[in-house]
Amino acid sequence: MHYYKAPANALQNKTILITGAGDGIGRVAALTYAEYGATVILLGKTTQKLECVYDEIVNAGYPQPAIVPLDMRGATKQNYRDLAATIEQQFGKLDGLLNNASILGSLGPLEHFCVSTFENIMKVNVTAQAMITKYLFPLLRKAPHASVVFTSSGVGRKGREFWGPYAISKFATEGMMQTWAQEVGKTNIRINCINPGATRTSMRASAFPGEDKDSLKTPEQLMSAYLYLMSDDSQKVNGQSIDAQPK
Ligand code: NDP
Repeated sequence: MHYYKAPANALQNKTILITGAGDGIGRVAALTYAEYGATVILLGKTTQKLECVYDEIVNAGYPQPAIVPLDMRGATKQNYRDLAATIEQQFGKLDGLLNNASILGSLGPLEHFCVSTFENIMKVNVTAQAMITKYLFPLLRKAPHASVVFTSSGVGRKGREFWGPYAISKFATEGMMQTWAQEVGKTNIRINCINPGATRTSMRASAFPGEDKDSLKTPEQLMSAYLYLMSDDSQKVNGQSIDAQPK
């Protein structure tokens, strides 16, 4: 898988929703999925960022995307119901869901964590991911082969001091993926996690402000794994947590 080379039409006729598509890894995943033929639905908090990605996709001649500005921190059941209804009306099905949007919050000892920050992190990184997956599930059922990918982290597999609520949210992500994956079993839907590993984005810069950015992989360098999990070549992969940067 780590050297997976996607054929140029790997995602043709697929509709894929990416959360956090305006920046960082989500932006590059959206551009890459569009390059490989997918119609992408760009969901994110900042409309202007989504519009820039939209323009990049259109200017490159890839399939016309759609934009969904939504702050997942305050999003309600009705927001997700409306989203599902719009996708149903426009596309009839959903082939892929990349649950990528997350927030880091502040790092520090758990002894001193801020309760409201903790709640915001859980809302964006866990509850919102569960909600969007639940409400889009009927549309994923309608695709011939659907893939849901949650975004994990090294600190979601082994506890690490001072990573506090963010690490807890990523453990929850791994657990959510495993639970869901067992429930979908051998259906048309598969559910996996991806761990990007240290990547040159603004989230990484806020966690490690003094780090040499040039020592980090760029989001573009991770796309082999992101493509693999969305293409039908991973049809039989379910319940796995995959590293985008092999050791
Ligand atoms: P960035 O901070 O660069 O991008 C995060 C994206 O999520 C942005 O597009 C942001 O939108 C969006 N987002 C944040 N909050 C919300 C919200 N409330 N509603 C909707 N969208 C929101 O992060 P990365 O690209 O670095 O991270 C992507 C994923 O990879 C995350 O799940 C992260 O935990 C994970 N990861 C990253 C690593 C790294 O080294 N970069 C390492 C391990 C895991 P906006 O810009 O509009 O705020």
